[in-house]
Amino acid sequence: MPSQLLFLGTGGDANLTAKGIRKSGGLILNVNEVQIHIDPGPGGLQESAVRGQDPQNTSLIIASHEHTNHSHDANAIIAYTSKNGTDKKCTVIGSESVTKNIPENIAGWCKSVNTMIPGKKILFEEFEILPIKAIHNDPSATGIQIFTPELIIGYTGDTKFDKSMSEEFEGADILIMNTKHLMGEKSATNLTTNDAIKMVGLVKPKLAIMTHFSTKFHEANPLYEAREVQRKTEVQTIAAVDGLSIDPNSYSAKLRTKTLNLFK
Ligand SMILES: [Zn+2]
Repeated sequence: MPSQLLFLGTGGDANLTAKGIRKSGGLILNVNEVQIHIDPGPGGLQESAVRGQDPQNTSLIIASHEHTNHSHDANAIIAYTSKNGTDKKCTVIGSESVTKNIPENIAGWCKSVNTMIPGKKILFEEFEILPIKAIHNDPSATGIQIFTPELIIGYTGDTKFDKSMSEEFEGADILIMNTKHLMGEKSATNLTTNDAIKMVGLVKPKLAIMTHFSTKFHEANPLYEAREVQRKTEVQTIAAVDGLSIDPNSYSAKLRTKTLNLFK
């Protein structure tokens, strides 16, 4: 299976999701034959199939916090992959607010349910998941740094900007930022484009991706906001759209070094 990072939904508010303008199904990361569904919001299970994935292959669900557009479909995916509990093959890694709200019978259909504690790495097959404390109106919300054998992917989840939090994403090859608000806006709970500029400047990933937009952001021009981030940071920056698919391994510093060595 080729490596893939697929954006099922890029909407950051219920209005966009309800009208189907931008969906909220989360992201799928397929690497090293492992399929991870990150922040499965409403419609995530169905959208995964619509976008050519086989949701039966989901072996890990990561939910950064308990807000509906980040965790709504977790139970549906567990029920589907486990065939209502007869084949327990899916693991869940979630914030405390997510894991404590999974009904007992459904939690019993998982291989394991793991609660994220900021700073404490969780091992899953060849991967390491590092929870990073977010500042959001779910107190247990987390950002996540995913270490695969080939690369590091940072995902902010929903958070207000914080310098020391941002620095914890250091080393990320790809940085995915839930940038809900436009440049010049203020927010106590989510990132703005100004925050994205600061964050990318600190982390210096090879690729920055902005997603999880408000209606106002969607109606302005996300492309323009991404271009500003790129102009100010000199880091390649994309404004995600529903269905955006990239090969994450093409941003792997490790793989690039290996390839270069082949030509020495
Ligand atoms: Zn949230």
